[in-house]
Amino acid sequence: MSKEKAFEAPPIPPAPQIPALVEGAMSHSRPFVAEPEHQRALGFPGELVDDWHDRAIEKMGDLLHRYRGFRVFLDACVKCGACTDKCHYFLGTGDPKNMPVGRQDLLRKVYRRHFTLAGKFFPKLVGAADLSEEMLDDWYRYFHQCSQCRRCSVFCPYGIDTAEVSMAGREILASIGMGQKYSNEIIGKVHRIGNNLGLPQPALAHTLEGLEEDIEEETGVRVRLPLDQADSDILLVTPSADFFAEPHVDGLIGYAKVFHQAGLRWTLSTKASEAANFGLFIGSYENMRKVALRIRDAALDLGARRIVFGECGHAWRVAYNFLDTLAGPLDFLDPKYPAPQHIVEVTHDLISRGALRLDPSANDERRVTFHDSCNIARASRMGEVAGGQFALPRDVLRSVCNHVFEMDPDATGERTFCCGGGGGLLTDDLVELRVKGSLPRMQAFKEIVRRHRVSHLVAICAICKSQFSKVLPFYGFTMDQVLSLHQLVGDAIVLGER
Ligand code: SF4
Ligand code: SF4
Repeated sequence: MSKEKAFEAPPIPPAPQIPALVEGAMSHSRPFVAEPEHQRALGFPGELVDDWHDRAIEKMGDLLHRYRGFRVFLDACVKCGACTDKCHYFLGTGDPKNMPVGRQDLLRKVYRRHFTLAGKFFPKLVGAADLSEEMLDDWYRYFHQCSQCRRCSVFCPYGIDTAEVSMAGREILASIGMGQKYSNEIIGKVHRIGNNLGLPQPALAHTLEGLEEDIEEETGVRVRLPLDQADSDILLVTPSADFFAEPHVDGLIGYAKVFHQAGLRWTLSTKASEAANFGLFIGSYENMRKVALRIRDAALDLGARRIVFGECGHAWRVAYNFLDTLAGPLDFLDPKYPAPQHIVEVTHDLISRGALRLDPSANDERRVTFHDSCNIARASRMGEVAGGQFALPRDVLRSVCNHVFEMDPDATGERTFCCGGGGGLLTDDLVELRVKGSLPRMQAFKEIVRRHRVSHLVAICAICKSQFSKVLPFYGFTMDQVLSLHQLVGDAIVLGER
């Protein structure tokens, strides 16, 4: 059971601030453990196995053998301290186990004890420790206080990636029967039904028809949101939150308007009605692959020649880095286009070619700033040039909105702060962590609001949008101060005859 207690959002400091250390400040934060049925559906034991210690060590050995980088990360740390104040969860809580190096050390100590000579014979000298029940509990708590955002790795002189350590920790935990309820339940729904929400085909079709009617009522133009349309040029794979949540759904309407005006034949798919791939969060290659294969199958079934991803950060991280490995070869797709492609790339290209009729003054009431989502900023790229993941969305934003302002450079681009809800933490049993972890982003937002009267944060990640809707009110803002980039695009598109 989660032991979430009443809490208050920390006050936003006038400038970024390193908190005082508070030992154990977040030791009570622990997400619900997965139910046996959710565990078994993913190929894991239903509950904590009797011989959990030996199996955990065996699994660690397996991961060390399979992933060279994992071993290097555990060996390379020189305790220089450069990462200690770079994690938003540390900055928001002061808990030293939320320092990236503190988090890594939970696993490193056990690694040293079992996989290094010095740790076997002189454990105290090299900081090695046994995998005790207490340590196992710390793994569960603190590997679920990392959103796998990779900010710390930008500052580490050795490039040590705590996200990879957390993923490995979670994979070991799931393999001994201690998976996380939120992530594992969702992955099960994707395997069974096709999306995170468990939305079946009739409900999805009905929702899309309703959106078509809404657009027609508002604009007088029939813009299609096709489902399972064979022989479409483009299969759009988008987070299922786009089908109903605010502000996500306004982004989906924006994609539809883009495709409509550009005359592109596109479709959504029931089978691949989810871009998210939570297999990444739990570090499970097998589950990540199974989720990714639906997309390949859907594209083949529908005869699609392009796969385009909607606004979802970690989905793009998986797609950009691994789709070909997980679900390739993708040689049936049109070689003229990247496989896969991001919706921002599609819109950017159309704008560059003058193929969209835009009126940015439609957004004149909005004064916006762009939030770089961590999975796009630090774990993938976009377009053909380095840094495209920062430039392309901003180019699109400036084409559709006249009032765009930048937050502090230490809180944007490669140094962007996570929203606080990524990496499988977007669950109500972790709301305290989510609120506190969003402090650095809220600090930067408050500052740009103060300086430029900014009204909205704009994001291209479904998790960021949901997370901000939840946490903004804790800091004196309103939940509707977050927008989808393609909402602004959709509002600026002038539909109808040229
Ligand atoms: S990956 Fe992100 S959340 Fe995890 S320790 Fe590093 S900075 Fe913190
Ligand atoms: S910055 Fe890198 S080397 Fe330095 S303490 Fe952190 S993880 Fe270790």
